Amino acid sequence: MNDFAARLIAWQAVHGRHDLPWQNTRDPYAIWVSEIMLQQTQVAAVIGYYRKFMQRFPDVAALAASGQDEVLQHWSGLGYYSRARNLHQAAQMVVDEHGGIFPRDFEAIQRLPGIGRSTAAAISSFAFDLPQPILDGNVKRVFARHFLVEGWPGMPRTEKRLWTLAEQLMPQQEMVAYTQGLMDLGATLCTRSKPGCEICPLRQTCGAFLNQRVKELPSPKPRKPLPEKAITMLLLVDGDEVLLEKRPSSGIWGGLWSLPEVADGGDAQTAARERYGAETDMLPALPVFTHVFTHFRLHITPQPMRIIRHLPEARQLSAVWLSRQEAIGAALPTPIRKILKNLPD
Ligand code: SF4
Repeated sequence: MNDFAARLIAWQAVHGRHDLPWQNTRDPYAIWVSEIMLQQTQVAAVIGYYRKFMQRFPDVAALAASGQDEVLQHWSGLGYYSRARNLHQAAQMVVDEHGGIFPRDFEAIQRLPGIGRSTAAAISSFAFDLPQPILDGNVKRVFARHFLVEGWPGMPRTEKRLWTLAEQLMPQQEMVAYTQGLMDLGATLCTRSKPGCEICPLRQTCGAFLNQRVKELPSPKPRKPLPEKAITMLLLVDGDEVLLEKRPSSGIWGGLWSLPEVADGGDAQTAARERYGAETDMLPALPVFTHVFTHFRLHITPQPMRIIRHLPEARQLSAVWLSRQEAIGAALPTPIRKILKNLPD
């Protein structure tokens, strides 16, 4: 047996959890229900729900025969209700397709709704003593830290590497103690924040501990780059006055005064004429500046334009001409105030 597994098993015997309500049983149904409940919920929160659920639905036949409403009612408060719907549907499949006997075949277990490879492995190991490697969220964290596996564990490449490790490390004996040890270590010692490295049985070989990288691993989910948007803002200048326009009440800068805008590459002079009745001369554009919103990045090109004459027919009710000082004092978004303050004379 490899050293990693041996130390984990020795630790589990002394420090692991041995008396949870779903331990010390070989009943695949009881193990399955616990594994599904534990998928997104902590042990302490699961225990009470588990006991009540098992009282009401003591076996797969009882669960299959119940209505979905009642199953959901017993799940109420645990969250992620698709777990309960899948459990119910899978119980009916066990009754219909497997004669009410939970399948032992690893592939058949995985074909049941809501059971992925790791959950199937836990059921197979705990109920049937048929060793299969597990890799739930806690175990991924232990492996990523101990073996310095870079990359977010949700990425296929990283996950593949973690599964390979899970397969290589799995011992041929004492599989139940090993699997339970991995789960316990991930849940109680190698926790997301403040892991108990000082008392961890793996610390002599743990790459993250030895290289002071525990806080960095596993790598976080990469942030998606923010979408980019570019606009031109019209700086219509008539003597000392500039034109401001009120923004719609919803959307960015809703209800504030701002400069009129056109999409990047749009015809500024046509927009000035058609929207504001202004014949203009284009002046050199000011430097582009970028404003970052939570959901996108806006590149703004301020385009100064001098008024040659006002056309009488055009009236824009949402637009006003204000002296530069008045404009700076209006309810403006900060970047627009900055543009006006820096506007050359
Ligand atoms: S030494 Fe720390 S980081 Fe490494 S496996 Fe143990 S608890 Fe996790």
